Amino acid sequence: MHIKKLSPLLANQIAAGEVVERPSSVVKELLENAVDAGATRIQLDIERGGTRLIRITDDGHGIEREELELALARHATSKIERTEDLKAIHTLGFRGEALASISSVARLTLSSKASNANDDATGWSAIAQGQDMAVDIQPRPMPVGTIVEVRDLFFNTPARQKFLRAERTEYVHIEETMKRVALASPQVAFTLKHNGKVTKRIPAAKSEEQQKQRIGAIVSNSFLGQSLALDASVEHLRLWGWLSHPDFHQNSNMSQYVFVNGRAVRDRTLNHAIRQAYQELLPTGRVPAYVIYLELDAEKVDVNVHPMKTEVRFKDEWRIYHVLKSAIEEALSPILHTIPDFEKPGFSSDFEFPTTFTPKEGQANPDQEGLHLTHGDTGNNFQPALDRAKSYASQLATRPEPDTGRVDLEKIWQVHSKYIVSPITSGLVIIDQHVAHERIL
Ligand code: ADP
Ligand code: MG
Repeated sequence: MHIKKLSPLLANQIAAGEVVERPSSVVKELLENAVDAGATRIQLDIERGGTRLIRITDDGHGIEREELELALARHATSKIERTEDLKAIHTLGFRGEALASISSVARLTLSSKASNANDDATGWSAIAQGQDMAVDIQPRPMPVGTIVEVRDLFFNTPARQKFLRAERTEYVHIEETMKRVALASPQVAFTLKHNGKVTKRIPAAKSEEQQKQRIGAIVSNSFLGQSLALDASVEHLRLWGWLSHPDFHQNSNMSQYVFVNGRAVRDRTLNHAIRQAYQELLPTGRVPAYVIYLELDAEKVDVNVHPMKTEVRFKDEWRIYHVLKSAIEEALSPILHTIPDFEKPGFSSDFEFPTTFTPKEGQANPDQEGLHLTHGDTGNNFQPALDRAKSYASQLATRPEPDTGRVDLEKIWQVHSKYIVSPITSGLVIIDQHVAHERIL
């Protein structure tokens, strides 16, 4: 066997194996390039779930004609220059391989007009056919910005083509990818078209209120309506975002978004910290929804872990773990420690609860004991939990419990959104609501 150097096309196709898994991976790389170029509007046109066409148009700073061909070459980037630059990456891309990889497994046209070009100057296209790494340059009139068109993905790599799923499935992945990038870049407006129809429009958010509306539009309004704010700063670490109320749990990891310095990441340590903070509050097997942003010095996080750039390594992993966990616990704590004002107008329940707890002489005051009752509505957030508490309690009340007595439906409290407390003939019963639920099921 003789050793031969791989052709540039084959070398790029091998590299593409790691970054271009499906149409949504192409979308991710191209959207990140547009964001890195300072775009304020990005339009995606998709045909047939991205297998026939992915076109991304941005109004960023563009690429000069002389550099168009280089942009398609492997290991060519404008984002880093020296080894030291790897210590603190400030852009989403830096590996200089996405365009080269994509152009080796599809027909790619990169068109651009640089922001420093004259008004009457034309834009230029670099056309790569995916047959070899040859690039053809042609004029293309266009406004300042960049248009990348990727046609016939995997036309020359049948092994990959086989793994493509139904058009709808690929489209859903693309939409999810766009949501992630949009959540990470609130200052950018996005439009997504599929087979000629606009399927999603996300305006840019300039104010805090617009930012909230955007979260509602991207994640869901029911999430936003039930969510609690996260906002904490510890030394150089800033954490903010939205967390689902413990009543808003789900069974899949949908709507779970974590961003580190504007990059959507999947990180086991961070996920574990979040799970731990919610642990006591959710029924077994249920998970929360969240949009969490972490901002820290770029030197404290290494993003050069995997070609997909969705994994990160923190210098001080355990510190971040603890800060995140405590910040979430803190954000969730008001709902665990609120004694609602039952006299407040608007408190409504068709169920007759005993009113505020007034300790008699010699009787422990739950407030002073650190036991806080939450059996009312502090903004309608508790209604589902209360309804469930009522339903579990009434089902348990019908069960004969010899020697202990029955739960009296007229006297029920809910503690920490989790326990049902009620006097019975022989004393007091404390029911773990989630366990009761499981038992009933
Ligand atoms: P990377 O993003 O890691 O640098 P890419 O292969 O994705 O590598 O892109 C190569 C280069 O092409 C980028 O460094 C950038 O200079 C240029 N480029 C790519 N897309 C755009 C764009 N949408 N607008 C401006 N420049 C772009
Ligand atoms: Mg890139």
